[in-house]
Amino acid sequence: MTSDQIWQPLVEELARWQRADRKAEFWLRDDDAVDPTPALDRLLDLTREFAVAPTLAVIPALTDEKLVVRLDEAPHVTVAIHGWAHRNHAPEGQKKQELGAHRPREAVLDDLARGLSRVSGLHGARAVPMLVPPWNRIDPGLVAELGSIGFAAMSVFGPPKPASVAVVNSNVDIMDWHGTRGCRDHGLLVQAIVAQLQHAFDGGEPVGLLTHHLVHDESAWLFLERLFTVAAQSEACAWLPIRALIGRSAGTANPGKM
Ligand SMILES: [Zn+2]
Repeated sequence: MTSDQIWQPLVEELARWQRADRKAEFWLRDDDAVDPTPALDRLLDLTREFAVAPTLAVIPALTDEKLVVRLDEAPHVTVAIHGWAHRNHAPEGQKKQELGAHRPREAVLDDLARGLSRVSGLHGARAVPMLVPPWNRIDPGLVAELGSIGFAAMSVFGPPKPASVAVVNSNVDIMDWHGTRGCRDHGLLVQAIVAQLQHAFDGGEPVGLLTHHLVHDESAWLFLERLFTVAAQSEACAWLPIRALIGRSAGTANPGKM
C-alpha cells in the first residue's frame, strides 16, 4: 500500500465529520519527560509547527529546573504528574506498578502529593493537577483519594471509568511495546484512530494519542508528522488542550465512586 492508501480511511472519516459540520477532536499525551533531550526538542518543534498542544507527563522525582528552562521556550506545552519516581513496587512476575496495593495507601498518597507539589512548584501555571499513573496502572482504592490531595484529574489508557476526579484517558498508543518496541504499523494505527473517531461520533471520547518521545524510532516520528499533516488538511479536525477536556470531564465526574 502507498502512504496515501494507508491514510485514506482517516481522510474519509474526517470528511464525514466535515459533512456533519462537527469537529473531530484529538489530544496528545507524551510520557516520561525528565530532561531536555534531542528527542524532546523534536517533539516540541513538531507539535509547535502543527499547533498541537501536547501534555507532557513529567516524572517528579527525576526532573529539575533544566526542563523548566527548556519549556519556557515552548508555550504550547502543558505538564502533568507522572507518579513520583516511576519505580516498580510490584513483585517479580507481576505487571509493573508504582501506585498499586503493594505499599500502605498512606505511603503512596504521600508520594503523589509530593509529586504534585514538586511539578507545580517547578512549572507554575504550566502544570495541570492531573495524575498520569506510570504504566497506566493505579490501585482502584487510591483513585477516590486523589481529590483530597489536590488532583483534579487522572489519565490512564482505555475506556474511562467514573471517578471522583475528571478522567481524560489516552486510547491510541503509537508504540509496539510487546513486539518491535518501535512504532506500530501505520495502517493499524490509522484503523485505531478511525475506530475511536467513530465511537466519538456517537458520543464517545476524543482521540487521545499516547506517545513516548524518548523511545520513538523514525517510523514513530514519521507517523506523527503524517497524522498532523492529514489533520491540518481537514477543517473538521481540532487538537484540544488538556484543560478544555478536564473542564468538560469534571462536569460528569462521579464523587465517591471509582
Ligand atoms: Zn511512563
